Amino acid sequence: MRDPRYDILFQPMPVGPLVAKNRFYQVPHCNGGGYRDPSAAAAMRGVKAEGGWGVIFTEQCEMHHTSEITPFIELRLWEDKDIPQLRKMSEAMKTHGALAGIQLAYSGINGPNLFTREVPMAVSAMPIRTFTNDPVQARALDKSDIHDLRRWFVNAAKRSKVAGFDLICLYGAHGFGIFQHFLSRATNQRTDEYGGSLENRARFVNEVIADMRDAVGDSMAITLRVSLDETIGDLGFSNAEVREFVEMNRNLPDLWDLAQGTWEDCSGPSRFKEEAAQEQLVRGIRELTDKPVVGVGRFTSPDVMARMVKSGTLDFIGCARPSIADPFLPKKIEEGRVEDIRECIGCNICITGDMTMSLSRCTQNPTFMEEWRKGWHPEKMNAKGDSGNVLVVGAGPAGLEAARALAVRGYDVALAEAGTVLGGRVARERLLPGLSAWGRVADYREYQISQKPNVEVYFDSALDAGGILEFGFEHICIATGATWRRDGVSRQHVVPFAIDPAMPLYTPDDIMEGRKPSGKVVIYDDDHYYMGGVLAELLAAEGCDVTIITPSAYLSDWTVNTLEQHAIHRKLAGMGVEIVLNRGVVAVADGHVVSNCTYTDTTRDIGCDAVVIVASRIENNALYMDLKARQADWADAGIRTVKIIGDANAPGPIAWATYAGHRYARELDGDDLGDALPFRREITELALE
Ligand code: ADP
Ligand code: SF4
Repeated sequence: MRDPRYDILFQPMPVGPLVAKNRFYQVPHCNGGGYRDPSAAAAMRGVKAEGGWGVIFTEQCEMHHTSEITPFIELRLWEDKDIPQLRKMSEAMKTHGALAGIQLAYSGINGPNLFTREVPMAVSAMPIRTFTNDPVQARALDKSDIHDLRRWFVNAAKRSKVAGFDLICLYGAHGFGIFQHFLSRATNQRTDEYGGSLENRARFVNEVIADMRDAVGDSMAITLRVSLDETIGDLGFSNAEVREFVEMNRNLPDLWDLAQGTWEDCSGPSRFKEEAAQEQLVRGIRELTDKPVVGVGRFTSPDVMARMVKSGTLDFIGCARPSIADPFLPKKIEEGRVEDIRECIGCNICITGDMTMSLSRCTQNPTFMEEWRKGWHPEKMNAKGDSGNVLVVGAGPAGLEAARALAVRGYDVALAEAGTVLGGRVARERLLPGLSAWGRVADYREYQISQKPNVEVYFDSALDAGGILEFGFEHICIATGATWRRDGVSRQHVVPFAIDPAMPLYTPDDIMEGRKPSGKVVIYDDDHYYMGGVLAELLAAEGCDVTIITPSAYLSDWTVNTLEQHAIHRKLAGMGVEIVLNRGVVAVADGHVVSNCTYTDTTRDIGCDAVVIVASRIENNALYMDLKARQADWADAGIRTVKIIGDANAPGPIAWATYAGHRYARELDGDDLGDALPFRREITELALE
């Protein structure tokens, strides 16, 4: 049963007129589905209720049509019509005694209103600030607009109550909510009673909370989410001013929800931010107020959580990503199963779902956002089918997840790995600068597999088709990974280009295997995710003079979606790495590369002693092809199916591989769906006319 050290995390705590059953607080987080996929989002929250969270929030919910953040997909509460889908979510949240919260957002300076075409209104007239630099400006709210806005908040509060929520969070953090825009001198340049002194800047939030209390305060709790520091220096809402604000307004909300900086600051990846990174910024704030305080910090360790509460730093442990990676985190602590926690690795793949308006995935939890679409549960597998055993070849993220999930279903699993460790690419990438937490992908699965009597692991077992045909397994799952290409084929070059063999040439695999360049090194990055930047960091730290060349306008371009592109560029620039943007490489010669401008194609030589090519990866599918070629022998060998999954099938991020492994395990012995869609979805109901 539960370790008494963690008892404190299970003490109930009042919030306004309500009581939370424990200290586990799922702070608002996006999921890429929002109003487009309401049942998928509701079911995802429902699984967290089952997993034991005491408080569960929605993502941000646009509370009025005059402020919306298209193209990003969150929730909407613009009229009564929006209530049923929100009620479905609140009901799912409340199934196991959790409090259901809704986060109301009026985006002001962040809402370009591309869909509603309303003129954006903000605290002061300024260009809209979003990820997309829309060429749109906001006009300043006048007194009658402020009056209207107060009324709209009350309307939204009443609708939230009808929709079944217990808590309302007013969004004023990450630079995103109007409350922060009023509080910060950077975005509040008013000269009336709403601008100037801190008291004046705090007037609007005081008015809104008072209005809402009158309307719904008897039954609902009102929380305020602010950043601990706007992180733009003295002009912004600094940590010192946040403390002053809390002290001046001790009992303003029923709970203080303390986020940090911009979204990039708050949700920093593990590459740049440790667990509990905000501890210093948050410490002491609780003494300035009589109300409970929640804070975040990618908490996955129950010891750190208990320390936060025991030390009086926080009353509630706020989690977004850790609750995505393991919706059952509270339950596992409660049941004394701490070693079963599937820890978030801090890769921010979940955030890419929101940034790309698709549907969020999680590297560690392949069932995230498939709870309703596919009926996948993070802790339960479907019953075993009619066959008995499976050989999984390759113990990378795909093979490990397949083996783990198949074992839970009850199959006898043999996991054959050519090397001597589990983890595949993760076993190597976890040793790269900043990526050690990614090792949790392997650690979690290695431990789970070790607890299963029906999984046998075989190391030093590089299998070939002949061997596999002799073993007599019913199902063969090929998860043999991928290899970085040496010929530069990726996006700029769709066929191999001129490479002089006199130039020492390295791929990411070479470097991870310990073969390293020295001297002046050019990294040619036509991959655009993290690998090029990570290798630049590694080689610069080891004393190389590094130049990184990319055809993109941004270094590690796709990491905009993982909220770390700025941090990567800042770090490499700070280390003295020369960053060459908008240029490709058209030839590797003896002593230099020939680099071309992406726009004009003019070339220049860049001298170097070695070149690292970060291009695309090629599938290790030879074993699969050999087996396919011998399909006529399968029946005699007792083989029913041979499938290829993960990077061996088509290389992608680690999350794609764990998903492929999980899907394989779910679908084994399943019905053939034929041409039917393999998931459920909701589509807009047509109006009658
Ligand atoms: P994925 O991301 O799809 O899981 P990885 O590249 O991380 O792929 O892992 C593939 C794993 O498969 C590696 O650990 C590799 O050693 C192993 N492997 C590759 N070929 C074979 C083989 N023929 N037999 C056994 N293991 C193999
Ligand atoms: Fe954590 Fe990565 Fe999962 Fe997001 S995708 S919850 S950062 S493991």
